[in-house]
Amino acid sequence: MKRDIVIVGGGIGGCVLAALLGRAGRKVMVLERSTSAPMWTRPEILWPNTAETLFTLLPRETWEAQAMMPLQGIEVFNQGGFVSGVSQSDLDGAKVHPWSTNPNATRELLLGLDSFELRRGVEVAEVLKDNGRVIGVRAREVTGGKEFEVLADWTVGDDGGKSIVRRACDIELKTRLFPIEFFCFRFDWPKSFRVGAVHVIPNLDGVRGGVLALGGAPLPDDKGAGIIATLGQEFDRQRGPAETWTEWREKYPAVNDFVGDRQFPDDFAHVKRYWGHANRYGAPGAILMGDAAHPPSPAGGQGANMAVGDARVLAELLLANTPDVVSEYERRRRPANTRSLRPTRAANFVLGLPDWGRALIPWRTFGRLVGRHSLMIRHVLRFLSEAFQERK
Ligand SMILES: Cc1cc2nc3c(=O)[nH]c(=O)nc-3n(C[C@H](O)[C@H](O)[C@H](O)COP(=O)(O)OP(=O)(O)OC[C@H]3O[C@@H](n4cnc5c(N)ncnc54)[C@H](O)[C@@H]3O)c2cc1C
Repeated sequence: MKRDIVIVGGGIGGCVLAALLGRAGRKVMVLERSTSAPMWTRPEILWPNTAETLFTLLPRETWEAQAMMPLQGIEVFNQGGFVSGVSQSDLDGAKVHPWSTNPNATRELLLGLDSFELRRGVEVAEVLKDNGRVIGVRAREVTGGKEFEVLADWTVGDDGGKSIVRRACDIELKTRLFPIEFFCFRFDWPKSFRVGAVHVIPNLDGVRGGVLALGGAPLPDDKGAGIIATLGQEFDRQRGPAETWTEWREKYPAVNDFVGDRQFPDDFAHVKRYWGHANRYGAPGAILMGDAAHPPSPAGGQGANMAVGDARVLAELLLANTPDVVSEYERRRRPANTRSLRPTRAANFVLGLPDWGRALIPWRTFGRLVGRHSLMIRHVLRFLSEAFQERK
């Protein structure tokens, strides 16, 4: 079978690209390996520009009913209760109104769009080439193993950090393991929590072991997506995880509002992230986008926003039949993606320092300084909300 564009992977970037091209009349096929949404949930922040793109694909009311809600601030707690945070007036002052989303629900809504053809439960096993140019893929149904080929003018790899398209094109991507590991969970939004605000409990009061913070973001239907950040393997380096976990809960009673009677670590989804930036964004006949080209850490909430930023530019170039699509795409997207990786790079540097180096950093004073100066908060918010966008 022949299509104009075949997209390997139905992540947020691949789906948005497929929808933008499909509604303009291009024949697009998306091949997605998973047969259904993951069983676990994690938080995801989408910045206004990304949300606006999603609202062009489905009515805003549909997104709000099923997948996303406007964020009204960030509240930071210590042992005694609420201490500071980012208020609605900080968001208004920065003119930044982010969205908290359930990534599983956003992906399912996008995969359900009818402007492109979706083959679900299909894994791409081989990238096909003719005279050095990528001409399509060989795919296999996950259940049953039936194989088929899809030929296309362009093969787009939106297939994540381990991209088969990237490897087939010999594009180099040196990755580094992010020093923070994540434990994710879904919870019922406690009645005592402010509606619409992210809640964060940083470990400033000195629970030993590697817990850095616990956070929860609101989701539609009175649910929340929670995340515990731990410093790599340090969580159990000094003492057993169970002992540290108990101390953490005793010191910060609000933790119990989030996690209920879940046991650490078995009742959480454990996520490690590798990050990096590919040395090229494509090859003859093939283009990379999203995590396949530049996997970030969750620091700064950039990855999904970068993928949608890639999709917008790529759709524009393909629809305009731009002669040298790959170079033009890379020229326009690399500076923004490099900017978006900065929070990851900075966090990687600081948290990768030896224990004595990290101990020299005055975290508490730094936290207070940022908390007191709304100008600083607004500056950071503006940077994060725009980093992934092109600067014309
Ligand atoms: C804990 C955590 C928190 C995060 N928080 C944020 C946040 O707040 N804001 C933000 O913007 N980003 C966040 N991110 C990052 C964000 O989730 C990713 O960067 C984003 O999802 C990448 O989208 P993508 O379009 O590149 O596709 P991906 O999400 O990488 O999806 C790739 C798809 O390809 C499919 N696939 C892979 N190989 C094949 C194959 N061979 N054949 C067929 N299909 C294949 C996979 O099944 C998958 O569906 C977070 C990530 C994590 C882990």
